[in-house]
Amino acid sequence: MNQEPLNHQVKADNELDRARRELSILYEISNAMRSTLDLDYILYIILTSVTSHTGLGFNRAILFLKNPAERCLEAKMAIGPESPEAAQKIWEYISRCDQDLDDLINKDKLEQKVGQGALFKSVERLKIPLVTKDENLLITAYNNGTAMHIPEEKISQYAFDPLLQVFRTNELVIMPLKAKNQVNGVIIADNLYTRKPITENDLRIFTMLANQAGLAIENSQLYEIIKHKSRSDAITGLWNHGFFQDQLTLEIERSQKANIPVSLLMIDIDNFKELNDAYGHQNGDIVLKEMAGILKDSSRDGDYACRYGGEEFSIILTQTTKDHGYVIAERIRERIAGHCFPKFSSAEQLKVTVSIGLATSPQDAQTKESLILQADKAMYAAKRSGKNKTCLG
Ligand code: GH3
Ligand code: MG
Ligand code: MG
Repeated sequence: MNQEPLNHQVKADNELDRARRELSILYEISNAMRSTLDLDYILYIILTSVTSHTGLGFNRAILFLKNPAERCLEAKMAIGPESPEAAQKIWEYISRCDQDLDDLINKDKLEQKVGQGALFKSVERLKIPLVTKDENLLITAYNNGTAMHIPEEKISQYAFDPLLQVFRTNELVIMPLKAKNQVNGVIIADNLYTRKPITENDLRIFTMLANQAGLAIENSQLYEIIKHKSRSDAITGLWNHGFFQDQLTLEIERSQKANIPVSLLMIDIDNFKELNDAYGHQNGDIVLKEMAGILKDSSRDGDYACRYGGEEFSIILTQTTKDHGYVIAERIRERIAGHCFPKFSSAEQLKVTVSIGLATSPQDAQTKESLILQADKAMYAAKRSGKNKTCLG
């Protein structure tokens, strides 16, 4: 009997099975990536998809993102066992549970797995400059924008590559992540523990995943930029009025739950109209910016320095009693009064002062509206009593 047609049929069936499996993996991954705009979670979904046996099944993967400010590639997340023994345990666990990709991508696992492992620690400090005279693997893949596969027989040629100095492996793939022809990151992946050779087919499906991943990363980064802009004041860069209102609501709720006070400073520049009249509004804006810098610099982590409106600022002092709030307010007031603002004319050095009102919840007010009112009243009391003062609500 002629076996040929039968063999062809089996081959075609296998091909079809594989194509079906790949499509379903890509479908699941793209659905998961579309479910969120949170960057850390997107990176986690990508790396889980690259490493899980229901996904692409690589043993280890590390994701690098472009840092435009520092003009380098830096490691953001890594997933993979730290030793052959750990790998064995994970695979036994996965095959026992028979989890699908959806289970593995469960957000609760994000905290447990990522960022702490030895794999991430090994590359955490690696910052690869985007512009460099020395060729290296990550930057070559980044510049070319195409996948690079370094097979076992060629790996020794790259022994001195900065990546392979810290990421010891037998064979690897470097996959650029692209969004509209711009590379925004790179994933490296290997099969160090199973030693399963990386095939053409692995590269093909990995490339498809990377194209979606690059777009998802870009969307999330754009979302973060827009979110930040929508909460910031354009002139001073401080939090804007809308953010101030939302955050104060949250902080009062928190303070009531934890039974810890929260204080509010209302800060108004003294005689600002005169300053504008004397030096012009553009110079007035420069003073506002410089003032914002002082307020930001004087706030602790967890405090919120905001531009309330025109020449009025507010600072939410979280977990702060009235006494402590007063010390902070006076420190800010004195610092501003002693600050040398730019000279806008040949006249003497420009001095600017502020009047500050302080109120504390729950002592002075239980709701957001009345806390703002009390701080405002205190600020006007400071104006009435001669300006350049802090008054209490
Ligand atoms: P007081 O000590 O009583 O607070 O007097 P003041 O002159 O500071 O207060 P007033 O309310 O009379 O004037 C506030 C001025 O702040 C008037 C307004 O032109 C100016 N101002 C508000 N927003 C801006 C801004 O964005 N840029 C500039 N340059 N000036 C602004
Ligand atoms: Mg005012
Ligand atoms: Mg004023």
